[in-house]
Amino acid sequence: MSLLIKNALLVDGAGEHGRGDVLINNGKIASLSGGEAATTIDGSGFVLTPALFDPHSHLRSPGQEVKEDLRSGLLAAAKGGYAAVVAMPNTEPAIQRPEDVRGLYQQASRLDGARLLLAAALTEEQQGRRLTPAGLLRQAGAVLLSDDGRSNDDAGVLARGLLYAAAASLTVAVHAEDTSLRGEGLMNDGALSAQLGIPGNPAEAEAARIARDLEVLRWAVRKAAPLGHQVRLYVQHVSSKRGAELIEMAHADKLPVYAEVTPHHLTLTAENWRSFDPVFKVAPPLREPEDVDALLRALESGVISSIGSDHAPHTRAEKERDLQNAPFGIPNIEVAFPLLFSELVDKRGFPLAKLIARMSDGPREALGMKEIRLRVGEVADLMLFDPGASRSVDPATFLSKARYSPWQGWRLKGWPLLTLLAGKEVWRDAALA
Ligand SMILES: [Zn+2]
Repeated sequence: MSLLIKNALLVDGAGEHGRGDVLINNGKIASLSGGEAATTIDGSGFVLTPALFDPHSHLRSPGQEVKEDLRSGLLAAAKGGYAAVVAMPNTEPAIQRPEDVRGLYQQASRLDGARLLLAAALTEEQQGRRLTPAGLLRQAGAVLLSDDGRSNDDAGVLARGLLYAAAASLTVAVHAEDTSLRGEGLMNDGALSAQLGIPGNPAEAEAARIARDLEVLRWAVRKAAPLGHQVRLYVQHVSSKRGAELIEMAHADKLPVYAEVTPHHLTLTAENWRSFDPVFKVAPPLREPEDVDALLRALESGVISSIGSDHAPHTRAEKERDLQNAPFGIPNIEVAFPLLFSELVDKRGFPLAKLIARMSDGPREALGMKEIRLRVGEVADLMLFDPGASRSVDPATFLSKARYSPWQGWRLKGWPLLTLLAGKEVWRDAALA
C-alpha cells in the first residue's frame, strides 16, 4: 500500500516547507521528494499538514447514542481533518473502570474514521468525591483523566487526583467554573444579559476556579517532584481574558499547566444571544469581543497551546427546547478547521503553521505525546485541505448526528479533502478526484 501526494504545499507546526511530493509507504512518510507509488494524488493548490488531534470531544457513548455514537463521531472527526479524538467520559454510565475503557476500544477497532482515544473520569460517577484507579485506567489505555461536564468543587480531591495521575503519567483536565458563582447562568454575565433578561454566568466564575486550580497544582507539584513524577494540569475551554492572564502568570511561575480554547470561543460572542437561540448555549459561555481578542493573542503567544473542539452533540429536539431547558453544548468537529482557517488565518493573518501547531502538537504535548512533523520516518497521520475554494456550512451534510450549527450558512475555506490515519484513508472528499 503506497500513496504519492504530489506538489502540495507542506506545512507543519514548525513552519512552511514549500512544495513537496510526499510518498507514503507502510503507514509512514517514506520520502518528501517523490518515488514510485501504487496511487498518486495531485496536490497542486492544496496544503498537506499533520492531521489534527482533538483533545476534547463528546462522542456520547455509552448510553447517549441518540446524540452521537462512536461510528458517527469518529467519521465526523475524520471528515473534519482529525486523525484522533479524545472522547470525554461524561457518558451514561461514566467511563471510569478499566473494563469500560477496554470495551470501547474494542468497539472502535471495528469502526472506520478517526482513532478513538479515551479520557476516563477522575472521580467515581464524576461526583468529585472518590478517585478512580488512575494506574489501572492508564494500563487499559486511557490517555487523560477528567470530570469534564462538571467542575471539581473539592480542591483536596483534585489535589490527590493530580498526584495519582502523575504517578500513572496521566494529565488531569478540568472544566474550570466555580459552581456557586456560575449559579443558574446561561449566557455571559454583562450588560447584554441584563438587557435581555437572561441569567448571567460571569467570567469571574471561570477565573476564580482557574486561580484555585493553579494553587492546587502548585501543591501537587511540590509533593510529586521529590518522587520524580511529572504533574500536568490541562485547563479546558478557557473563555475569558482574565482566565488567559492567570494561565500566563502560572507559566511565569513554571507551573506545568496547559490551556485550551475552543473554535466557538474564538469566533462567536455574547452578541449572538440577541437571537435567543439555544444553539449558542454553551458552558463556559460565549464572551465579549475583548475576550476573543485576548484568547487570540494567548493562542498566538502559546499561553494557550491547544485548540479542543469541545464537540458536544445533542439531539435537535433537545436543542430546540426553550433557553432554560435546552442543554449546553455546540457540535463543531466537521467545521472546526475550515472555520479557524477562514476566520483566523484568512481574515486575521494568524500564521497557518501556528494553527496547525495548536490543533495537533499542543494537545499531544499536553497529554505527554510527541508532536507529528512532515519528515521521513514519521507516522502518516496527514490532512490535505483546499485553502482556496469556499463552501457554505450546511448542517444537512454533517456526518455527526447533530445536524445543526451556529455557523450555518457561513462561507468558509479550508475544507479537508483527505485525512490519513497511519497512511490509511479515513476521509476523502468528493471534490478530490
Ligand atoms: Zn467542559
